[in-house]
Amino acid sequence: MPLAYVGVFLCMMLGAILWSVGWAVASGLLAILLYHARNLYHLNKWLNSDDSQAELPDAQGVWGRVFDRIAQLQVKHFKSEQELTASILRIQKSANALREGVVTIDDSGALEWWNISARKMLGLNKKQDRGAPLLHLLREPDFFAYYQQADFRQPIAVRSPVNPDQLLEIAITEFAKGDNLLIVRDITDSQNLENMRRDFISNVSHELRTPLTAIQGYLEIFQLHHPELDIHIQKSHLRMLAQTHRMTNLVQDLLVLSRLEDTINVSDVAYNDIEPLLKEVLDEGQISAQKLNKQLTITMHVESQKSVMGVKVEILSALTNLVANAVKYTHSGGHINITWHETDDGLCCTVTDDGIGIGQEHLSRLTESFYRVDPSRSSASGGTGLGLAIVKRIMLRHNGSLKISSKENQGSRFICIFPHQNIW
Ligand code: ADP
Repeated sequence: MPLAYVGVFLCMMLGAILWSVGWAVASGLLAILLYHARNLYHLNKWLNSDDSQAELPDAQGVWGRVFDRIAQLQVKHFKSEQELTASILRIQKSANALREGVVTIDDSGALEWWNISARKMLGLNKKQDRGAPLLHLLREPDFFAYYQQADFRQPIAVRSPVNPDQLLEIAITEFAKGDNLLIVRDITDSQNLENMRRDFISNVSHELRTPLTAIQGYLEIFQLHHPELDIHIQKSHLRMLAQTHRMTNLVQDLLVLSRLEDTINVSDVAYNDIEPLLKEVLDEGQISAQKLNKQLTITMHVESQKSVMGVKVEILSALTNLVANAVKYTHSGGHINITWHETDDGLCCTVTDDGIGIGQEHLSRLTESFYRVDPSRSSASGGTGLGLAIVKRIMLRHNGSLKISSKENQGSRFICIFPHQNIW
């Protein structure tokens, strides 16, 4: 029998012998109360103890069972805590083995944790930087604007704060409400390769331009000064001239594209009055139609008087490309419409035609360099396959976008969207 019951029994017996039944019950209750108070006192002492290793007090009866259960739960909790710590260490170890830098940012934008690669690439200091705002670390204006905008669909390239020769690509993903994960990648080598590729294309194009101009010139002179030549030779000359024209256009487009890719940001940004700009585009379209001997109705509608912010030559080049395409891919008798209007997304220039249209399967790839729906038809019309790549690049440089919709044999619609808040 547990000691407590013996104590209570003895108290009751003593009460009954010395006084009366009432005293016996009171003594018993007092003994029970003292028993519970003692155990509660020990439990409270144990709960408030700073020593995590402190042993639970010994007890019998119901308190013994309570203490046993607490001891079991304590062991279980200790085990799961150990398991949790082990898996956190494992995750940290594997994150430290990554070549990419990983940084967690809390909902106030402060640095929480980072792996070894991030420490090296961003020059993070364990003591000093924990809890510091991310924007104190990455101070480039482009990154500041990117972070403030909170549109993290695309990564951003920044210079390493510790080594300006190192180019880093930073991608941000939200992993819990307001908490972000920063993935940092060293793109110095791939960027150098990309620069080499661009320089190569640009240099080759430059080198080709001069001999091509000479060949084209001689062919034209030959054509003019020797009308007596045999008809077959004349035909061959004309074909050579046409091919030289094509190559000149190609070289020209390659140079334009490499120039656009050369710099990330646009310069000479200004507000451009839209009506004269669109008039120029319309005139170019009409000249293209005349050159191709096509009877086309080209119209223009200016529905918004708001001017567009950007680089005039680039905007002009993008819109002229779209209208030139509409002319190329619309049969005689067709209609082309250029509209300037405003939507929730921004200021839009829409070029619509009722030409040959494009199959749905091609739409997502149209802006790739040299992608053609029908290579034979495209080269026959003097296309280089770079026009839409140039348009897309220009729109990206203006923080804008290009939307394409089309139906085969019904026509196409190209929309250049210039967002309301262009950030320069
Ligand atoms: P290209 O110089 O060959 O015209 P682009 O990059 O300008 O190259 O266009 C890519 C392809 O998209 C073209 O080859 C053509 O097949 C198709 N395309 C572009 N604009 C139109 C249009 N308005 N109507 C029909 N097809 C078009």
